[in-house]
Amino acid sequence: MPANPKNSHILQAFFGGTFDPIHYGHLRPVEALAKEVGLSQVTLLPNHVPPHRPQPIANAQQRLKMVTLAIADNPLFTVDDRELHRTAPSYTIDTLETIRKERGETLPLAFIIGQDSLLTLHKWHRWQALLGVCHLLVLARPGYNAQMDTPELQQWLEQHLVADADQLSQRPNGYIYLADTPLLEISATEIRQRRHQGISCDDLLPRSVQRYIALQGLYR
Ligand code: ATP
Repeated sequence: MPANPKNSHILQAFFGGTFDPIHYGHLRPVEALAKEVGLSQVTLLPNHVPPHRPQPIANAQQRLKMVTLAIADNPLFTVDDRELHRTAPSYTIDTLETIRKERGETLPLAFIIGQDSLLTLHKWHRWQALLGVCHLLVLARPGYNAQMDTPELQQWLEQHLVADADQLSQRPNGYIYLADTPLLEISATEIRQRRHQGISCDDLLPRSVQRYIALQGLYR
């Protein structure tokens, strides 16, 4: 989609994940982030998991359906299923570079990750290219260090940190923003385990997604 000149300074945000399944630990912090930073839309990007990595339990179509159900009544969110259509492994940096080409060089773009993902970002394919394409918005997540694992990584973080969210719209890419979002102790792993043990997941993910999981017999 070409950049809309009217929206050319509005920060566009993408949120990648396996979403196996999507849960309130994804949705609630991003809703809070949207208020904090002034995002009018967040695009969810369900991952195509490369064959050499542990595979999700739900297939691509099921993960997409769960995302669609979870955001059905929430105009903040939209979904982009491009990675799921690819047969080759898709890396986040490749997808973001494609999005950057589509939207133009000047549009402020952001990619949202949780604190746990920030701590392991240096293991991502071409991770150092990420800030050349977008900003990173980091969601707080309970149980993960605030400090990076090495002095070099901590220095890299500090070099790019920005405390004032307004600055994110002033540049197309290159900043890291640590959001002050609510801490939700929810993971897809815990949901899959609870379901396996027959324990209720009521407060952890939307009803519509729970119903779909039950209907499909997922995570038993
Ligand atoms: P799993 O338990 O299977 O590893 P997950 O719950 O971490 O899954 P993913 O789909 O892998 O979910 O996460 C997508 C993104 O959402 C990641 O950047 C992750 O850091 C972030 N995220 C997931 N859960 C939370 C949470 N409770 N709080 C903040 N960020 C989260």
